[in-house]
Amino acid sequence: MNRRDFLRCCAAGAGLLLWPGVGRTAVLAQTGITQRRVVVVGGGMAGATAAKYLRLWGGAGLEVVLVEKNPTYVSNIMSNLVLSGTRTLSSLNYGYATLSSKYGVVVKQAEVTAVDGQAKTVTLSDGSRLSYDRLVLAPGIRFDDAYGLTQADYAGEFPHAWQAGPQTQKLRDQLASMQNGDTFLMTIPTKPYRCPPGPYERACLVADYLKSSGRGNCKVVVLDENPSIQAEPHNFNLAFTQTHAGIIDYRPGTTNIQVDKVNRTISFTQGGAAQVINAKVINVIPPHRAGVVAEMAGVANSAGGRWAAVDVLSYESTAVPFIHVIGDASATTQPKAGHIANQEAKVCADAIVRLLQGQQPDPAPVTNSACYSPITATTASWLTAVYQYDRSSKTMVPGGAGVVEAASISSKNFNQMNTWFTTLMSDSFA
Ligand SMILES: Cc1cc2nc3c(=O)[nH]c(=O)nc-3n(C[C@H](O)[C@H](O)[C@H](O)COP(=O)(O)OP(=O)(O)OC[C@H]3O[C@@H](n4cnc5c(N)ncnc54)[C@H](O)[C@@H]3O)c2cc1C
Repeated sequence: MNRRDFLRCCAAGAGLLLWPGVGRTAVLAQTGITQRRVVVVGGGMAGATAAKYLRLWGGAGLEVVLVEKNPTYVSNIMSNLVLSGTRTLSSLNYGYATLSSKYGVVVKQAEVTAVDGQAKTVTLSDGSRLSYDRLVLAPGIRFDDAYGLTQADYAGEFPHAWQAGPQTQKLRDQLASMQNGDTFLMTIPTKPYRCPPGPYERACLVADYLKSSGRGNCKVVVLDENPSIQAEPHNFNLAFTQTHAGIIDYRPGTTNIQVDKVNRTISFTQGGAAQVINAKVINVIPPHRAGVVAEMAGVANSAGGRWAAVDVLSYESTAVPFIHVIGDASATTQPKAGHIANQEAKVCADAIVRLLQGQQPDPAPVTNSACYSPITATTASWLTAVYQYDRSSKTMVPGGAGVVEAASISSKNFNQMNTWFTTLMSDSFA
């Protein structure tokens, strides 16, 4: 090693020792924040965005540690297109290297197994403990045992595939093995659930795949526990009654859903009548709730509520101070969606930076959400909404143009959908 190489090596090493990543993040400002640490739990849509923007806005003196249990994030968004064979699962993988190298986020691959809100520490699965000044929980959701099925059933013969990953591939394989005339049966839990248009989108793509692969005599039965279509009613009604007429059989207001695993039947009640359907593929989307770490932290509990109550000016828990909850795990009036998770993360990051500087959070935050829904392998619809803080109700309410859905299902929307997805994912992970 010559002298120049030796000096370069020492400089890089010193940077890493003093502050991981600082040598590579020269763009970060000096904001006056020093010696503070924010720990972010969960590197999904909400957590990855929060970690990135905490560093960008908090500056070089704010240490941000992102704890994520998986080495790679698999996007739920677009995962219905894996079922229909339009995308591969691997095309939905996102890593954490850029958050680390570009922004100096300290990424730890581990599961958070305990939270002590009094001592302000989290315990990781490797046994180590991290202290924090502020903690951001972004753990997404976990699923109830429901309708006679357990976690082992979901991982086995009855995948919900409502968390993209191995279950998505399994459901894809089950779908691919259907014979012409078979039935695909899916269920939708009572709202609020993850991604309001997602189940209807899934029904459309499954129907499209079956039809376009010469299995037009198949049926896609949708048992909805809700009284009606929960998102884009105009578009999905059109898709069910025209685009996929004769294949999709949509049944709102179903109750008493029960799966018979042995006979592969589902019994349920609709309009006061008890019914039973036999299905080749059974895809229940079970009711879900905030990820388990939210319960550990005491910000959500299985008895009192499924979600973590927060102040939407900062996403700080109303139950435990210095803990913020963002994304699907939080209880807000906004939809449980990846785009909104990204927006909540930014409002939260901004509020934390202000609080660490002795200021108050922005009193009038605005968030927005766009959501594209593929209807076939080449067409899509969309939904967009803007939310503003309402001082009297202390909630985010639709503002401006409110909630708007696309007036047409088109291939132009399908192309725009790909641009929207790429932009959103790079805003969160790159
Ligand atoms: C089929 C489908 C289609 C969808 N389509 C859209 C769409 O078109 N548009 C849209 O906006 N949204 C869509 N969504 C919804 C979107 O995916 C979710 O709203 C979004 O992922 C929520 O982000 P999150 O960060 O809260 O949770 P997640 O993205 O699930 O991330 C949570 C992360 O936390 C980690 N984690 C959990 N507990 C721990 C722990 N104790 N320790 C360490 N790590 C932990 C998990 O491993 C995970 O990586 C869709 C969802 C589905 C299922």
